[in-house]
Amino acid sequence: MSCHTCREALSARLDGEPLGLPADELDAHLAACPGCAGWAAAAEQVTRRARLALAPPVPDLTVAVLGALPRELPGARVAARARLADTALRLVLVAVGVAQAALALPVLVSGAGAMSAPVHMARESGAWNLAVGAAFLAVAAGPRLAAGALPFLGSFTALLLPLTVADLQAGHVHADRALAHLLVLAGVAVVATVAWRSHRRRPAPAVADRRVLA
Ligand SMILES: [Zn+2]
Repeated sequence: MSCHTCREALSARLDGEPLGLPADELDAHLAACPGCAGWAAAAEQVTRRARLALAPPVPDLTVAVLGALPRELPGARVAARARLADTALRLVLVAVGVAQAALALPVLVSGAGAMSAPVHMARESGAWNLAVGAAFLAVAAGPRLAAGALPFLGSFTALLLPLTVADLQAGHVHADRALAHLLVLAGVAVVATVAWRSHRRRPAPAVADRRVLA
């Protein structure tokens, strides 16, 4: 092998390119030729220095880039408004839950005041009304519970409302007690809204999940 061929192959090796000849032939020549061995060492050092050279100074653009960003990222205002609406709904639910419990508790304790119903009937309906208030408060504390609470709260309200209207017409219920049922209606409407909002916000299943579902 000529020294010229050897040095061409050495350059290729330093650049990570194909040698164009068997590597052991190259190494054999290097071992036997002090000229090429010295050339190889020098070339290696030059290549290494070139690779370690300082990067040219780059101006610090952090302030300029941050300054050029829009004051609010798109969607941030929508998200803030949604959070505000969520908080408002939960506060309404707390108020409705507390009012509902305040109405139910005296009847539950004393067994009196429920349109001269037998004591146990009054207490039982007091317990149901208190449970409804507790459900409102539970959804206010953990909005993810809204969908699970709907079958009970929704069916209770769907039955209570037409029965109350019929009883009002027949004179079986006082207007003030009938009006108190509007509290239940308001609470259920808020719970349904909370459930609908969290369902709408739920992300679509990932691709892998879709494959499992299919
Ligand atoms: Zn040589």
